[in-house]
Amino acid sequence: MERKRILITGAAGFLGSHLCDRFIKEDYHVIAMDNLITGDLRNIEHLFKLENFEFYNHDVSKFVHVAGKLDYILHFASPASPIDYLKIPIQTLKVGSLGIHNLLGLAKDKNARILIASTSEVYGDPNVNPQPEEYWGNVNPVGPRGVYDEAKRFQEAITMAYHTFHGVETRIVRIFNTYGPRMRLNDGRVLPAFIGQAIRGEDLTVFGDGSQTRSFCYVDDLIEGIYRLLHSDYAQPVNIGNPDEITIKQFGEEIIKLTGTTQKLITKPLPTDDPKQRRPDITKAKSLLGWEPKVSRAEGLKITYEYFKSLPKEVIEKIEH
Ligand code: NAD
Ligand code: UDP
Repeated sequence: MERKRILITGAAGFLGSHLCDRFIKEDYHVIAMDNLITGDLRNIEHLFKLENFEFYNHDVSKFVHVAGKLDYILHFASPASPIDYLKIPIQTLKVGSLGIHNLLGLAKDKNARILIASTSEVYGDPNVNPQPEEYWGNVNPVGPRGVYDEAKRFQEAITMAYHTFHGVETRIVRIFNTYGPRMRLNDGRVLPAFIGQAIRGEDLTVFGDGSQTRSFCYVDDLIEGIYRLLHSDYAQPVNIGNPDEITIKQFGEEIIKLTGTTQKLITKPLPTDDPKQRRPDITKAKSLLGWEPKVSRAEGLKITYEYFKSLPKEVIEKIEH
């Protein structure tokens, strides 16, 4: 049988590279695209020798051309960590607007099904906890996080418009904080920040009083949820995340225990508009996809810690603050 062909944008990033692995494992032909603005080719270099894998260094905010037939598109290109999108706000807005427009046009042209990576950030600093898909959110459009949150909200809107007006087959996954191997140690997100600090023998920086909550999902669970959603017939947004909610202070304490560091938690100012609580309501994912997370935080953190420890010394030490 002829292989299904899938385009994955953001393929050299954390999640994109795990998606490449999964679809290669399922015997798809994977066309990977990335402009490497926050990604790293080392995440996918093990795939370069395969005949069913191609890579294109391309900015998807510019016209996207793919030769031949295309069955599926996964749009994951976008800076994703607060320090990244604060550094490159315009590119973040462009990939969430011009980029998605190009990819929806491609999906329409090729008659391909497209799944887009949305985020729990569409709920902003939520007044409802846990967050169901029906909640419209509480986003500050002109605050520092607005460039990411509003790009993702626009992305959802234009995706629904292509679905409704052009009949394009679309899927929207709202991803909640996900972690695992291939996260960048210096991407500023709390998990690599804390583990990196513990490995380097520095104190762990808790922003604010640490009472804000997050719910961390291990990457393998997320990828399984995305795989199931892509193959479902549901076009409305679906939350994928792990509902096991924890305060950032407790999380810091867990990392201290895991790593055995003798360092302590120290406090730094809370960034503007930092959400106070976040936890996915996964009722829809359970009922529509038969999906729920399988990997506990204890297990996932252990695997991720081993990964970070195995990195070359110069990667561990080269951290911007
Ligand atoms: P990442 O930074 O590791 O990966 C993003 C990739 O996109 C990078 O390789 C980057 O170089 C590439 N990219 C960015 N702009 C591009 C452009 N214009 N053209 C081509 N490539 C471009 O981040 P990630 O954590 O893997 O996130 C991937 C996607 O998932 C993003 O869309 C993000 O918004 C979404 N998401 C992630 C999380 C999470 O917890 N990791 C949570 C919610 C949503
Ligand atoms: N955070 C922290 N110390 C750090 C980095 C982040 O206390 O060194 C906090 C941050 O303020 C937020 C939470 O951890 O409340 C999660 O931050 P992250 O950047 O990982 O993701 P997001 O805010 O997008 O959920």
